[in-house]
Amino acid sequence: MKMVFDDLADALNSIQALESVNTLICITDTDHNMIYESSNKNCRPSVCPEDLKKIGRVFRPSLRATFRVHLIDNWVTAITTIPVAIGGESYLLEFKQLIRQNIQFSPEPRDLEDLYIHQIKEMAITDSLTKLYNRRYIDERLPIDMQSSFELDEPLSVLFIDIDYFKRINDQNGHAAGDQVLQKLALLLQKHLRRGSGWVARYGGDEILISLPGSGKKAAKSIANRLRETVQNYNFYFKGKKVMVTCSIGTQTVFKDSGIAGIAELLAMVDKKLYRAKNEGRNRVC
Ligand code: GH3
Ligand code: MG
Repeated sequence: MKMVFDDLADALNSIQALESVNTLICITDTDHNMIYESSNKNCRPSVCPEDLKKIGRVFRPSLRATFRVHLIDNWVTAITTIPVAIGGESYLLEFKQLIRQNIQFSPEPRDLEDLYIHQIKEMAITDSLTKLYNRRYIDERLPIDMQSSFELDEPLSVLFIDIDYFKRINDQNGHAAGDQVLQKLALLLQKHLRRGSGWVARYGGDEILISLPGSGKKAAKSIANRLRETVQNYNFYFKGKKVMVTCSIGTQTVFKDSGIAGIAELLAMVDKKLYRAKNEGRNRVC
């Protein structure tokens, strides 16, 4: 879709509001001659607009909307280019945003490509609300954990965590409060899971899965109980009001001789345990 403006004044009027969130906004003609360039006060001092201008010359934009990530003076910079029509002529509108400083990469094209691919991969396996791994990651990673644990003749344990009466938390405090509870819970679980012992992912809704390769039944139950108590004892607040949060946890440990066919079977087993924890009164581990 092409944005259409009567003249340059009309275009500038519309993009002015966006200047506060973008480091630099440019309008160029299709030969890349600069027609307009914002002088953003929020431009970080370590990168001057001159450096940002270089990108346009290196990566000549096409006449369709594009999104690119580039590295300029160690700043990861997002560039969105949108074709626009001003007074019946074709122009390009470019938004350039400094995302974060990156000291590991030198501005080699190969590194930029790797960085871009890495960021897309990260997005594909990350849950946008909690920043935990997502369901796709579970589907890809859990079979690997299972296979490698069995090859090493070690157990694999999984925890299936579900917030108790989460619907009620939403109903009584609003959906935003529920979102905050999920975010805080995600941070708590990550913080209290010992480094290297496993990974945490949002399975969906208010359900979170933890994989613990190498952990046996006793260790898994003890970790689950520690996490359950941490959640119970944490003071969740929303707009100054305390929100009571507890969770129930199903645990399942399997070995190579458990005769388990795949992760679907493992997930069904741990789901049953969670169901039992709920039935036995919630805020408990089974
Ligand atoms: P139980 O103790 O049996 O687990 O009860 P529950 O209320 O937690 O169970 P139920 O599955 O009925 O409710 C889960 C609720 O989670 C329903 C849904 O509206 C809510 N939910 C799912 N995803 C999100 C989300 O991303 N944000 C918020 N705020 N709520 C969500
Ligand atoms: Mg629930």
